[in-house]
Amino acid sequence: MTTSDGALATQVECGTCDAVCCRLPVVLMPDDDVAGHLATRTAEGLRVMARDEDGWCVALDSAHMRCSIYASRPAICRSFRMGGAHCLDVRADYADHRARGIPLTLY
Ligand code: SF4
Repeated sequence: MTTSDGALATQVECGTCDAVCCRLPVVLMPDDDVAGHLATRTAEGLRVMARDEDGWCVALDSAHMRCSIYASRPAICRSFRMGGAHCLDVRADYADHRARGIPLTLY
C-alpha cells in the first residue's frame, strides 16, 4: 500500500473513477451559471446542485460518468483537486462501502 498522498495520488484518474466526488454536496456560488432545473435548495435555503435518486449530481452523464456541464461547472467543482486529501477520503469511503455491500450514505 502506498503511504504518502503524493504517491497514491498518481494512481488516481478521473477516467477510471466512479465520479464519487459528484456525490458530495455542491453549494452554488452567486457567479455559478447553472440551469435552474439542475439546482435545488436545501432546507436551510442554500442553492445546491440537485442529486438523482442514487445520490449523484444530476449534471453527471451516468452513461460515461462525466460531467455534462464541464465547461460551465460550478466553482466548487473546479476547485476540487484530483488526488487531493478530500478526493482520496471519498474514494476510500466509497470503496469500503462497496466492498462490504453497505448502502452508500449521502454527505
Ligand atoms: S456539476 Fe459536474 S463536476 Fe460538479 S458535481 Fe455535478 S457532475 Fe460533478
